Amino acid sequence: MLNADHPEIQSWVSVPSGSPFPIQNLPFGIFSTKDSSPRPGVAIGDHILDLKAVHGLGIDLGPFKASDFDSSVLNDLMSQGKKAMTALRERIGELLNAGDHELKNHAESVLVLQSDAEMHLPVRIGDYTDFYSSIDHATNVGKMFRDPENALLPNWRHIPVGYHGRSSSIIPSGVPIHRPKGQTRPDAEKPPVYGPCRLLDFELEMAFVTFDGKPLGHSITTSEAEDYIFGMVLFNDWSARDIQKWEYVPLGPFLAKNFASSMSPWIVTLEALEPFKVRGEKQQPVVLPYLEFTGNHNVDIPLEVSIETETGASQVVSRSNYRYMYWNMVQQLAHHTVNGCNLRSGDMMASGTISGPDEGSFGSMLEISWQGTKPVQMPDGTERRFIQDGDTVIMNGQCEKNGITIGFGELRTKVLPAI
Ligand code: MN
Repeated sequence: MLNADHPEIQSWVSVPSGSPFPIQNLPFGIFSTKDSSPRPGVAIGDHILDLKAVHGLGIDLGPFKASDFDSSVLNDLMSQGKKAMTALRERIGELLNAGDHELKNHAESVLVLQSDAEMHLPVRIGDYTDFYSSIDHATNVGKMFRDPENALLPNWRHIPVGYHGRSSSIIPSGVPIHRPKGQTRPDAEKPPVYGPCRLLDFELEMAFVTFDGKPLGHSITTSEAEDYIFGMVLFNDWSARDIQKWEYVPLGPFLAKNFASSMSPWIVTLEALEPFKVRGEKQQPVVLPYLEFTGNHNVDIPLEVSIETETGASQVVSRSNYRYMYWNMVQQLAHHTVNGCNLRSGDMMASGTISGPDEGSFGSMLEISWQGTKPVQMPDGTERRFIQDGDTVIMNGQCEKNGITIGFGELRTKVLPAI
């Protein structure tokens, strides 16, 4: 398996030291340039390998059709399933290996500089589910909104709690959002009001992308789950806290969440993340049998969030880690399908806000500013309790092992005033 457990492997494509995209990563995305339509590519150093161009040279890439490489989404490739995609990534690793010349002789026709390319949504997302699987986040929210002594609801340690979100408003890095408008009730003694949201927030999350699952009515077990997971992205689940507070009882998040969610452009495969797997927190009480699992399924992915103001002043506001999740991916997927709900290729399953145990590791402004009571000082002298118009929220994630960096690429979203 090509990953950071094999740091000695090098590519003939020169990879700057510390690049998030060494040959041990090889994440998949969809790119276009001024000369080429959106198509599948694989990141290598500062470049993108154009898979349509590689296939066009007659080089064997496995059981895929030419049209699969001439698509504006990865779903066509992914419909071949986990085994075929894993083999495709291994094959690309061979072709990019320093000892291989088959592709090197065509370098100019198959490599594109990332700086010359525009990245698009990598998959056509049929359904989007958002979990709520960070125990520190759920505890913080419970303390603020309910009972500081009994912060977790009774179901939380038994069920990977989640809700169905909206896929139409998922956008790639670089696409700005407008401040949402809606109904809020700032004063509990007065009637609700309509207007631009005042408490706009990010949620630091990661999401995994699925392959086609089993037929409707069939479940996927925790031991089968990874066969249905392609890879992961950084995910910013934008939230309007004032709209959320007024609307969420009794059915949960609605317009406070569905106006936008941003995702990083490259899907980093589970194979690339394998060396970073770690054991999660011991789950108490013991979970029901269908949620039991073997092996390590948490992943040590250091995460960082910055806010950049319109004037360019930038401040890191959170350093968290995906390893803090209480419920892991295989449990989330087993729970999602336990009732027979079917998955489709390109479905997006987000983790929920990822907060760690310490104040500096909280994954939303709601928690960082503790409902606005602890403002963040910005380098330009201003303060942030929530996100202001003109701010850009930047998320990053990078794992490191054996001197190899496995990164996701930046997730950057600017907030524009309400329309
Ligand atoms: Mn969320």
